Amino acid sequence: MKDVLKLTKFKFAIIFFLLFIMIGVWRWTSTNNLFYLIIFGYIGFAIAFGNILNVTLSKEHKHWGRKTTQLLVGLFMVGFLGFIGNENMQIEGFFFYLFSGIFAGATLHYFIAKIVGPLFFGRQWCGWACWTTMILDFFPWTKPKYQRNKKLGIIRYLHFFVSLCLILFLFYIAEFKEKDYFSNELLWMIIGNVAYYIIAIFLAFRFKDNRAFCKYVCPIPVSQKLTSYFAILKQKVNNEKCTECGLCEKNCPMDIEILKYAKEGKRTLSTECILCNTCIDICPTNAIKTTLGLDFQLKEYIN
Ligand code: SF4
Ligand code: SF4
Ligand code: SF4
Repeated sequence: MKDVLKLTKFKFAIIFFLLFIMIGVWRWTSTNNLFYLIIFGYIGFAIAFGNILNVTLSKEHKHWGRKTTQLLVGLFMVGFLGFIGNENMQIEGFFFYLFSGIFAGATLHYFIAKIVGPLFFGRQWCGWACWTTMILDFFPWTKPKYQRNKKLGIIRYLHFFVSLCLILFLFYIAEFKEKDYFSNELLWMIIGNVAYYIIAIFLAFRFKDNRAFCKYVCPIPVSQKLTSYFAILKQKVNNEKCTECGLCEKNCPMDIEILKYAKEGKRTLSTECILCNTCIDICPTNAIKTTLGLDFQLKEYIN
């Protein structure tokens, strides 16, 4: 019985590992390519390993679990699949595969991490696996110094629209052929990533906020936010344990007004939540937990 109770601590590590193994087996058996099982097995292992570290380390060191997963997944995705596998994992690459009708690794990645997956695990990709923030999260402004500039949030929608229009233009008007694209794919990947890193680092310094790029420029939340409204996995404050010390809100990297949701008896319904667990780790009374449920609201409570 004691052993079973110990194992429940690792339920999310076990669930995610099995989930990724199942996807790997599905792709392996449907394509006859064992490589899929190796890739998904590795990603499942990286998530489970970081999760186990997060559960077992002391409160002040728990963030290393998340950072470890971020490094293991991020370096693999951008390094191995991107630079060695020669696949453009940026949003333009995904659009191109979509219009070409090619089911590539990038297509699968976008469906799992950024379109369909958020129905289950919200924006956990952003908290635990993104290769852009695997670097940004080592900067000193984990908690932003200033309030979020909500007007600048429009840039990410414009970015999404411009990227989509660019690929539509190349594909349908400039009659850019698949071979033209594929022969330059590595170049697209390098230019895209270098531009992202330069802008993201500049914004982090400018706004004294590690996640400024996520809040204002990155186009990925445009699709993620739509499905993560309905995410099954969300954080919940137990009002009986909460002393309203405000530490969770003060340390949330995404400026979410966690206590407003708590006072309404709701889970943290904001689609800005990246399930980074910072609020859980910082709470002195262990009042916050990741829970499973079905609920949503359109109104965002963010600072
Ligand atoms: S918003 Fe963009 S840059 Fe930020 S974590 Fe998500 S995918 Fe990465
Ligand atoms: S850190 Fe914990 S106790 Fe403090 S306000 Fe947040 S939920 Fe309540
Ligand atoms: S609400 Fe908690 S889990 Fe969500 S982004 Fe803020 S600190 Fe991270």
